[in-house]
Amino acid sequence: MSDTIFSKIIRGEIPCHRVYQDEHVLAFLDINPLCEGHTLVVPKEPARTMGELSDDAAAGLGGALPRVCRAVVKATGADSYNILQNNGAAAGQEVEHVHFHVIPRQVGKTGLSIHWDPLPMGEEALADMARKIARLC
Ligand code: AMP
Repeated sequence: MSDTIFSKIIRGEIPCHRVYQDEHVLAFLDINPLCEGHTLVVPKEPARTMGELSDDAAAGLGGALPRVCRAVVKATGADSYNILQNNGAAAGQEVEHVHFHVIPRQVGKTGLSIHWDPLPMGEEALADMARKIARLC
């Protein structure tokens, strides 16, 4: 995959507002935050999407994510937060290096708006799709 701005940040070639780092993960403030404390949690392994991440990198990411979430909540005083993770252009991914957005939320404050538009699916269609995905897991 091509070099991204996050790889440059991980290598220390571009500055960031770092909040956490370990062997597998770097977390830093989003440069264009939706609200105070909007943080990006990024695996050091340069995979484009979640599905391309190695098991080791994914385990490291999974371990660091709750830790960063707890710190963001404490630092901002938020009572809630969203974790947003975009994979591919159609999903809104701009930087092609896996990353999780940790976005603190408080009732009455703006920043992130999520609109769910559910697709009506019958029992049979749901069962077919579940079988199809299960075969590939
Ligand atoms: P996504 O749309 O999920 O790929 O989100 C990419 C995010 O990276 C956006 O929220 C950007 O504001 C953020 N971003 C881009 N460049 C930088 C940077 N140099 N430092 C911190 N955050 C960045």
